[in-house]
Amino acid sequence: MNERYYEIAIVGAGPAGLTAALYAGRALKRTVLIEAGIPGGELLNTEDVEDYPGFASIKGPELAAKMTEHALMFGAELAPARVTAISVERDGSKRLELEEGEPLFADAVIITAGGRPRKLGVAGEEEYAGRGVSYCAVCDGAFFKGAHLAVVGGGDAALEEAVFLTRYASEVTIIHRRDEFRAQPLLVERARRNGQIDFAMDTQVEEIVGDGSQVRSLRLHRAGSGHDEELEVGGVFIFIGFLPNTGLIRAHADHDTQGYYLTDSNMMTSVPGIYAAGDVRAQLTRQVTTAVGDATTAALAATKQVEADRAALSPRLSAAGA
Ligand code: NAP
Repeated sequence: MNERYYEIAIVGAGPAGLTAALYAGRALKRTVLIEAGIPGGELLNTEDVEDYPGFASIKGPELAAKMTEHALMFGAELAPARVTAISVERDGSKRLELEEGEPLFADAVIITAGGRPRKLGVAGEEEYAGRGVSYCAVCDGAFFKGAHLAVVGGGDAALEEAVFLTRYASEVTIIHRRDEFRAQPLLVERARRNGQIDFAMDTQVEEIVGDGSQVRSLRLHRAGSGHDEELEVGGVFIFIGFLPNTGLIRAHADHDTQGYYLTDSNMMTSVPGIYAAGDVRAQLTRQVTTAVGDATTAALAATKQVEADRAALSPRLSAAGA
């Protein structure tokens, strides 16, 4: 058997990829789960998960470890590698280029590659990344004990992480460009009840200002004010959504205006045999529960496709005397 050939290849080992590996493994398909980092995806950047059924509250990394152990129990192979491109061969099989080493091949591919944080795109953001500018509260919050921090954004992540950061910071200012939050009311309410959090609404960050080694302040513009204000902070956490890792397929794959893959109800993209689940797929919300549900569908649909392709091929192979 060609060691670089798999029936199902899964790209990315967040909750969606781990679930797809579990189901493909249980279906006894030769499966590879390709992940460049530690399995767990966004769970590794989440302190407490409170909305995964069966676990009233569990640490993100703990749930990631449990999911990984479970996923690999049924025979899927974990390959530590980064996929750089996926193309379709003339016989319909998929070729997965890796950053290092020889390509892998598969009958079906499930893309569960997640996303990366969206950047604000203001002066100082790149310069002070890792020196007061952060995109991960769980990773960096503890470096800011006693500091006044800013959180930028108005979605679930911003509101949730602002509350988390109050365990280290003396004060957290949430800066949001509109006067209404996009976040769930429950999360907004929690932030409003927290005495260490204040709000700068209708406000945009114009510049992140530092002293050459560390962030010192933000230059802010409040809509309609006509002038900029300075807010002294020890650090700024940016949670303004993220960009899906959807640039892998070499052929055209249908996507929405923000780049998320459009799929059918089996999670198949417009490229036959390539499926997408989790944060790379266009959908109403991006939750762990939706990621694992969609990945289940993708893995079962891919399994059926692989089996149907095999069944269609075998009479032809025997007729050809193969
Ligand atoms: P999101 O829901 O897309 O919210 C992004 C926020 O950033 C919005 O408030 C947006 O403002 C603001 N924003 C976007 N671009 C901006 C810019 N250039 N400058 C200033 N502000 C900008 O992103 P998210 O909060 O990261 O959440 C992503 C997904 O994960 C969501 O589906 C969310 O439900 C899910 N999530 C769920 C939980 C949970 O359930 N506990 C926790 C975290 C994340 P506007 O509102 O004005 O557009």
